[in-house]
Amino acid sequence: MIFHIVTIFPEFFRGPFEHGVTAKAKDAGLLDIRIHDLRDWTFDRHRTVDDRPFGGGEGMVLKCEPLFLAVESIWPERKPGQRAALMSAQGRRFDQAMARRFQELDELLIVCGRYEGVDERVAEQLVDEEVSIGDYVLSGGELGAAVIVDCVARLLPGVLGHPDSAVNESFSAGNRLDCPQYTRPADFRGWKVPDTLLSGNHEEIRKWRLRTALEKTARLRPDLLGDPVRPDNRKLDKEHEQRVADEGYREE
Ligand code: SAH
Repeated sequence: MIFHIVTIFPEFFRGPFEHGVTAKAKDAGLLDIRIHDLRDWTFDRHRTVDDRPFGGGEGMVLKCEPLFLAVESIWPERKPGQRAALMSAQGRRFDQAMARRFQELDELLIVCGRYEGVDERVAEQLVDEEVSIGDYVLSGGELGAAVIVDCVARLLPGVLGHPDSAVNESFSAGNRLDCPQYTRPADFRGWKVPDTLLSGNHEEIRKWRLRTALEKTARLRPDLLGDPVRPDNRKLDKEHEQRVADEGYREE
């Protein structure tokens, strides 16, 4: 998969993609991350990318010409497996389901805004969607772009050591959180690892993991269990109810 990032701070991405899973996947040729300097599509002496907002007001707005030229030269022709996203506090909230949708693409292009934002014609006419990484305002789209690339990259086939790693984790299996994990020592300052995990009984371990994952979800993210629009939840709720009935487990 190819990721394109259009930014006025190309240097920003020196760090985030040079470690761990993403770096390894890049080296193995499983993904390609191309950073494009927006100023390469400016033609004045100052390489101007921003201007004052029409109607007055604070700050500066990223101009549309360089952004349109950038995307049109990266993709002279648009193909079905390509999608362009504008990082925006006003966009749809990025989540694991959106990451899975992006993972199906051949190319994802991410436009990073700065200053007071981006000329609205970019959202209206150039990109396919506006994407937010959460309900707060950042000073630029770069951190969000790094979040999206990291999250999508680890879903790509071959990127994670074990294919199940991306299945049995938070927001994936039945839209619940992952179960608690422990490693050695089995006793640390008197805090013991649950006996079941040391028992070697795989069926008991499986049940323990499901139960503790549901408990933790109910405690920390009850919204995930109650969200009626997520199709996995109906099944999850049934399992949950069954567990309450079987084991007397109760939400806090
Ligand atoms: N005036 C805008 C905020 C601009 S912040 C507003 O009130 O909505 C500058 C840039 O940072 C944005 O253009 C966007 O690219 C990026 N940005 C800010 N918050 C973001 C968020 N929550 N998710 C994704 N990108 C964000």
